[in-house]
Amino acid sequence: MRSTRWQAIGSVGLVDTAAPQAGPHDVVLDVEACGICGSDVHAFAEGAWISAGDPMGHEFAGTVSAVGPQVSTFAVGDRVAVNPMGPCGSCGQCAGGSSNLCANPAHSSFGGLGDQVLVAHAESGARLFRLPDTMSFEEGAFLEPLSVAVRAVRCADPDLAAPVVVAGLGSIGQCVVRVLRAYGASDVVGIDVSTPRLRVAAATGVDVLDAREGDVVAGLLDRWGTSDSPYQPGSGNVAAFFECSGAQPMINAATAVTRAGGTVALTGLSGHRPGVDLDTVVQKELRLRGTFAYTGDDATEAFRLLESGAVDVAPLVTHRIPLSRVDEAFAAQHATDGSVKVVVLPDRP
Ligand SMILES: [Zn+2]
Ligand SMILES: [Zn+2]
Repeated sequence: MRSTRWQAIGSVGLVDTAAPQAGPHDVVLDVEACGICGSDVHAFAEGAWISAGDPMGHEFAGTVSAVGPQVSTFAVGDRVAVNPMGPCGSCGQCAGGSSNLCANPAHSSFGGLGDQVLVAHAESGARLFRLPDTMSFEEGAFLEPLSVAVRAVRCADPDLAAPVVVAGLGSIGQCVVRVLRAYGASDVVGIDVSTPRLRVAAATGVDVLDAREGDVVAGLLDRWGTSDSPYQPGSGNVAAFFECSGAQPMINAATAVTRAGGTVALTGLSGHRPGVDLDTVVQKELRLRGTFAYTGDDATEAFRLLESGAVDVAPLVTHRIPLSRVDEAFAAQHATDGSVKVVVLPDRP
């Protein structure tokens, strides 16, 4: 079977590998759709968080093609979305409810940009979600980024009636916007520098700011006014700022416009070490909250949002590219001004 492997900066390619075999507790899937993630693009373009030969693709859905003899709740032919995180279930982080920080996630399933994927220990820890007939594989492939967004929103726990900003409208930011809307947030502004991303966010009913057109901080102060705090007169009034871009100007904006006692949720990876205005963080007692991946419970909530129709991800797909041209898919996702979500579809020989 074919599997997409990282080769070098700017180079990914398909290699032929042995088809996976299901162990007693495992499931093998034929992949039917796999999204390209922002982290995949960082890996592609900068070599971040990856080594030569590593399989790629973690946002996927597929059809069960084989099950191990101990698997009782899934059968060949089932259509499923995948939670690719396979935590150990027994380390201190798992025991404390933070399986997203598991010290040994040895059962994780990567390689969604391939013909088949093994899901080890498929019945433990909310790994597979059966798709209703009304849900497409493409929509199922959004389970993973939507789970990231659910965790970010849960960790920030924003006041849904107060001003909220989402900076960076790639697929994570788009999913954060949708989760916030599903939970009833009414006063949300999204920020980006990409026309299609701004347009698809605005369609959910939030207001958007194009950071190419003027001063974002001034725009947010203008919209919501200012608030004073000791040593920080004229601060912004934002209660929760979701930083999903990893871009220095947005990190600067986050500390500037978030009100005293407010929350800055840091969900975007930058691939470098951006500066943070720590004096402002201290003087406004801002809560900087990193959020990473998701637990099985976050994935379960994300699937509920998809299945119920509370979140609609279909408008995010801007490109569909066959697996045989996976290099084009990376180039398309890398071109942020022309894409929101690139989905790779199988074209099995
Ligand atoms: Zn991802
Ligand atoms: Zn663990």
